[in-house]
Amino acid sequence: GQVTQQQAMEAALGRIAAAQPGNNAFITMGGPVFPAAELSASPLAGVPMAYKDNICTKGVRTTCASKILGDFTPCYDATVVERLSAAGAVSLGKLNMDEFAMGSTSETSCFGPVRNPWDLTRAAGGSSGGAAAAVAAGEVWYAIGSDTGGSIRQPAAYCGVTGMKPTYGTVSRYGLIAYASSLDQMGPIARSAADCAAVLDVMMGKDPRDSTSLDAPAGGLLASLTGDLRGKKIGLPADCFGEGLDNEVRAAVLAAADVLKARGAKVEEFSLPVMEYVVPAYYIIACAEASSNLSRFDGVKYGWRAEGYEDLGELYTKTRTQGFGTEVKRRILLGTFVLSSGYYDAYYKKALQTKAVIKAAFDKAFEQYDLLLTPVAPTTAPKLGESLSDPLKMYLSDIYTVSVNLAGLPGLSMPCGFDSKGMPIGAQLIGPALGDATVLNAAYGFQ
Ligand code: GLN
Repeated sequence: GQVTQQQAMEAALGRIAAAQPGNNAFITMGGPVFPAAELSASPLAGVPMAYKDNICTKGVRTTCASKILGDFTPCYDATVVERLSAAGAVSLGKLNMDEFAMGSTSETSCFGPVRNPWDLTRAAGGSSGGAAAAVAAGEVWYAIGSDTGGSIRQPAAYCGVTGMKPTYGTVSRYGLIAYASSLDQMGPIARSAADCAAVLDVMMGKDPRDSTSLDAPAGGLLASLTGDLRGKKIGLPADCFGEGLDNEVRAAVLAAADVLKARGAKVEEFSLPVMEYVVPAYYIIACAEASSNLSRFDGVKYGWRAEGYEDLGELYTKTRTQGFGTEVKRRILLGTFVLSSGYYDAYYKKALQTKAVIKAAFDKAFEQYDLLLTPVAPTTAPKLGESLSDPLKMYLSDIYTVSVNLAGLPGLSMPCGFDSKGMPIGAQLIGPALGDATVLNAAYGFQ
């Protein structure tokens, strides 16, 4: 039967009340809701959802899970918020995340960690951990996250839901608080590929307010889903199934490959040796851009300001020292270092050259294959506290997701099983640039 907007909202609010004390998925609950006076024709009309807290929402506090933003309340909506609101989306609040989207477990939030709904002693993944947890716990039908190096796909995998980072430039970044602008892209986390398609149909499209947004055809993704995989060629990069990958994750992703085969796809192994370089290239570029993007948080223009300063220099120093958390400071320092004149050529320039080599390797793979299939992460969700003590290990766990951002490609994470502890496992489908429809269709066929 038909669920009314009122019933959907009551169900969602009931789930939020029950789940929030356990999983801490929300930073801010409530805020302007947009009940469609006359319901639009969009399938999203009246459907409860929520935004990651680095997406600007007019009149609703937007914190990036950082002390430095304080009670910053934007006076404008991000383009995606405008578009979804116009389609009748009903926002129930703002979702928890790693501070400034830097992290892989949503533990660096100044509002406390997100806990995985499948096991509250484990991480929900990150940085869009609140988004994935809220969808997995049934608190919202879908959530909008951001993905700079895996932050939509990896938490979706850890929480057993579907998440998609679309092709760079297909979704406007206007109103997304920047982490690394050349890699950042927003996308949906939802319960299925079809739901992701419905949300992307509304989010995508050229926006004059984002100079990197593409003038590509938008919309029609949901209508194009057939699930037909016959004749599709799917490449399995052997370099993504080797050392460092948990055996149960490997087995589940290979089983997903068999399902795709049974649906008519041709699956074949190939070699992608650039995988060795993706993590160092990503962290140099992401930190470099972050150090520049985060220079605007100085206690003057936005949010929170430290007390007890004598002059402007001290105001800046005290605000940034007390306002940013450890992980964010580590990255600002690393980024400033690799951009400094004496080291620029050795690190930043090398990383840009490596990025070009990585992109070329993917372009070459897509001359042979329609799609690539890989794991999303080397393991399932870690215990809370395990990752914070070893940042390098955490960075290495991003190996399967970051190349997709470096190459600007569409990537989707879909649930493909559980490990022996009962934790969800995700498989990643990667497509060529603007091959978003192909990616969604394969996931739809799989599901
Ligand atoms: N874990 C990666 C990082 O910390 C990715 C984060 C993201 O995609 N925002 O940079």
